[in-house]
Amino acid sequence: MKIIDGKKVSIEVLDEIKSSVENRAKNSLKIPHLAAILVGDDGPSQTYVNSKIKACDRVGFKSSLFKYNDSISEQDLISEIQKVNNNDDIDGFIVQLPLPKKINQEKILSQVDPHKDVDGFHPINYGKMALGLDTFLPATPAGIIELIKRSKIQTEGKKCLVIGRSQIVGRPISILLSQSKVFGNSTVTVAHSKTINLKELCIDSDLIISAIGSPEFIKGNMIKKGSTIIDVGITRVDDSSSNKGYRIVGDVDLNSVSDSVGYITPVPGGVGPMTIAMLLQNTLKACSLSD
Ligand code: NAD
Repeated sequence: MKIIDGKKVSIEVLDEIKSSVENRAKNSLKIPHLAAILVGDDGPSQTYVNSKIKACDRVGFKSSLFKYNDSISEQDLISEIQKVNNNDDIDGFIVQLPLPKKINQEKILSQVDPHKDVDGFHPINYGKMALGLDTFLPATPAGIIELIKRSKIQTEGKKCLVIGRSQIVGRPISILLSQSKVFGNSTVTVAHSKTINLKELCIDSDLIISAIGSPEFIKGNMIKKGSTIIDVGITRVDDSSSNKGYRIVGDVDLNSVSDSVGYITPVPGGVGPMTIAMLLQNTLKACSLSD
């Protein structure tokens, strides 16, 4: 079993971004500025936003956090988004998901200026992604592709199983891996909660991308020897031996697959850090495009 060290690869990407920022500063170009909109007090969402802001500091970006109480109305949130759209100093911003249930997520995401949509969730950017055009790729799938690329995992002609069909991970990564591109060209199957023969599909796959959110769901008897697994799942499970009272677990039972898997991303330290690095790369791109 070889571990794909997402933390290490993300540091490489962040260092590259940092040196681009330093070059921009030397050439008197604008310093990239990422903003985050956070609604409510969901613990994991606050942690994710804090990590994004910390990463901005690390690469020399400016960052802003706009926090709102979960009582904010949909219309007021749209007005706040318009303010960020119209703020010339902000190059890109994210609306941290999930939003409170009473707010229509699709409606909100479609209000983000596509030129500042560094999460790549606006229908225009999502459509461009599906068409294989240059755009802001959603950060998690972009991070998976970058990990595969830098780890020199072959995808061409391989049987790839994507488990999960969410708009933010499963759907876009299934599109990207099937496109006629380097580190695409896979034969992709998408499995989901209504799939009936998941174990057979797993055993038949060279590459599994798991984005379910079901702790340690994938066991050693479900995979092909030498296959690659990208574990996107992040679940907090109770753990009284940890100071926090919980630990973070992926979709894959690492102990169970260790004898048969070829390459695997750990959780934590796999896809998670790459997601943040790719968000910053999108922000650098948004800033460069407006030079
Ligand atoms: P989601 O939570 O919206 O949906 C889960 C998906 O899994 C659905 O499409 C469902 O059909 C499928 N599914 C559920 N049970 C299944 C089963 N038994 N068999 C087959 N498919 C099943 O998906 P999401 O937002 O992509 O999140 C998935 C996981 O990835 C979560 O744990 C989330 O925290 C994590 N995540 C991690 C990152 C990261 O940066 N590492 C980013 C986004 C999401």
